[in-house]
Amino acid sequence: MDENDFIDYYKVLECNRTASVEELKRSYQRLILTLHPDKNNTDLSDTFHQVQKAWTVLRDDDTRKQYDAELSCREHSDLLLYDTVALKEMEYNDEDNVYTYNCRCGGTYLLENCDTILSQVIIGCNECSFSIQVNML
Ligand SMILES: [Zn+2]
Repeated sequence: MDENDFIDYYKVLECNRTASVEELKRSYQRLILTLHPDKNNTDLSDTFHQVQKAWTVLRDDDTRKQYDAELSCREHSDLLLYDTVALKEMEYNDEDNVYTYNCRCGGTYLLENCDTILSQVIIGCNECSFSIQVNML
């Protein structure tokens, strides 16, 4: 997470997202003990507060659900998928050895280095914020 100050509370609690409340609680208690600002230096107090905040949100089923929704929304918001196309549906320009595909905005999706070993690539429009997924097979 880099944008704003949206924090991944699961990372803060060193748990994965499917962790049960019990697991979260154990992790929280362990972290609180090691991070308590009274016991250590004050540099840790930011982390300490994050851990407390994370636990407050995740221990409650309702706020956790709300948070999960926000989290997954954040993670997908940077990718606006306009279309999924097969490579053969794209226009090939053998002079430049590139594949192109027209975006509805009038811009172009440009695929160079088509000898990629990936089975699918995501490329962005040169004009707008949409992307397309190209299936190489
Ligand atoms: Zn576009």
